[in-house]
Amino acid sequence: MNGRAALLIEPNRDMVIREFPVPDPEPGAVVIRVTRCNICGSDVHAWQGNFKIQGLGASLPAILGHEMVGRILALGEGVLTDSWGQSLHEGDRVVFPYFNFCGHCPSCTMGFPLGCQNLHMAMLGNPQEFPYFVGGFADYYYLPPRHVLFKVPNTLSDDVVSGANCALSQVIYGFSRSGLTMGESVVIQGAGGLGLYALVAAKQMGASPIIVLDAFMPRLELARSFGADVVVHIDHYGVPERVRMVRKVTAGLGVDHAMDVSGNPSAMVEGLSMVRPGGHYIEIGSINLGKTVEIDPSRLVFGNKTIIGVSLYEPFALKKALELLSHTQGRLPFQSLLQDSFPLSQINEALQVAVSRRANRATVNLEME
Ligand SMILES: [Zn+2]
Ligand SMILES: [Zn+2]
Repeated sequence: MNGRAALLIEPNRDMVIREFPVPDPEPGAVVIRVTRCNICGSDVHAWQGNFKIQGLGASLPAILGHEMVGRILALGEGVLTDSWGQSLHEGDRVVFPYFNFCGHCPSCTMGFPLGCQNLHMAMLGNPQEFPYFVGGFADYYYLPPRHVLFKVPNTLSDDVVSGANCALSQVIYGFSRSGLTMGESVVIQGAGGLGLYALVAAKQMGASPIIVLDAFMPRLELARSFGADVVVHIDHYGVPERVRMVRKVTAGLGVDHAMDVSGNPSAMVEGLSMVRPGGHYIEIGSINLGKTVEIDPSRLVFGNKTIIGVSLYEPFALKKALELLSHTQGRLPFQSLLQDSFPLSQINEALQVAVSRRANRATVNLEME
């Protein structure tokens, strides 16, 4: 049996669909029939060549795509349950981190798996050798042995759950690293997919007020519908005014936590001045090497401020993401995050839509053809 995969041959060129043999799972491994794979901002940056996946160990051609959900096609010997102890069967819908830590390298041993020196990750493998299906823009995806995975509750549609394993888990983990607790104030810079998920996560964690900034009105309107207390269109106000607006709603102090999901390095300078003395700045959005910004370190010193860089997440964040989606099901307009879906054969059109930012999230629906 063969399956299709969209290959990135070279940045900025159309991806090419090729067929590869569907592998049998090794003991402990799982083969997933991908049903949905969203186009995340980092896929777009990788396709455009700004985010160099080769720097993480990838070679070209590669299969991009990592924000996905699917059904179990085949369970390797010994795989009986998911990571929460629920029994697993062929056909079950599951989500999983798009990466896996080895658990025994120096960084894992020191208790910091995010620095795993043997990290396994979607998009980095070579599709021309076993197990072939190494990225989400494909009919199948291969989970190597001892991979974390969770069964998806039947109440959650693919539309809603497909953003769980990247965007939603990432921001939940970001706030957990900065220690967000109820009643604390939050600034979110950027109201794309990550920003809206950050808003939902912060709200569920009890944050208030939550201020969201963006340059695109439809996104700010969505932020309102997801419960933002204040939205700020950055084209309508200069930086000093924006900082004043944030201070005004936080008793002149600034917020407890600011998170950058805009990907614009200059956001850091602005965001840091919106953070209160002793507060935290969480940097998630900037993934393009070499894009720099000038900051004055003395501001950090005198303000006792902490900057936290966050890449990847620990698997507990994905478990929490599923709980959050289940609890808010029907109360928040998650469906409106996904506006355009495309079959795999139209992956290039889907990328164009994602680039044009017409949709907050374009998605590849592997069941469409
Ligand atoms: Zn992503
Ligand atoms: Zn490791």
